[in-house]
Amino acid sequence: MVHSRRILIVEDEQDLADMLVYNLKKAGFQPFCAHDGPSAVQAALASTPDLIILDLMLPGLPGTEVARQVRTHPRTSKVPILMLTARADESDQVAGLSVGADDYVTKPFSMKVLLARVTALLRRVGGEVTGGASVRVGSLSADLAAHTVSVDGVEAKLTLTEFKLLVALMQAPKRVLSRNDLISRVMGPGIVVTARTIDVHIAALRKKLGSCGGMIRTIRGVGYQLTEEVGSPDPASSEIA
Ligand code: CA
Repeated sequence: MVHSRRILIVEDEQDLADMLVYNLKKAGFQPFCAHDGPSAVQAALASTPDLIILDLMLPGLPGTEVARQVRTHPRTSKVPILMLTARADESDQVAGLSVGADDYVTKPFSMKVLLARVTALLRRVGGEVTGGASVRVGSLSADLAAHTVSVDGVEAKLTLTEFKLLVALMQAPKRVLSRNDLISRVMGPGIVVTARTIDVHIAALRKKLGSCGGMIRTIRGVGYQLTEEVGSPDPASSEIA
């Protein structure tokens, strides 16, 4: 469960970039750098980091434009962005947030503050599943704090991924979620999986849910849907949506 989060640092001031790399490494992250706008966009798209620390004033392309491009691309649209701005200029901060930065830190900043913001942002993104109470659909019930699922009151032993998948479906009952929806809800940014991986997890999940397995329906060519009725899980073919 503990893997080191990959953080893209976009900063043209070499000293500051080095200091960020040093401190993020020390805090257990896996930082890597880009030093201008265009290579920042390239690096983000090529490696889908878990978080981007983005300086606003950059050669080649301003930080706001980098943020806009990162937000536009489906692969990186949900990667949290922490913007670095100049203290004096409040309009910079507004500009940064309006193009999709999640938070900003003004220069000069203390490493302590920066690390706290990074950690908070990562927690916010990774924590969708925790914090609520419980969800219930038909005979299925999920306890979001305890990370447990029960079928007719009997606990089903799920992996974390299976649990998150099921909760994503339970939180959107009757809605059809595409495999890409599920990937982004379950895997979080920075983890590259194929749609086929989702099919495999769903197949395993159905088995573990026993009599409730049929509540997860395959909508061919689209994705998956959770219904209250137990149907035949995949009417026509295998688990492939
Ligand atoms: Ca700069």
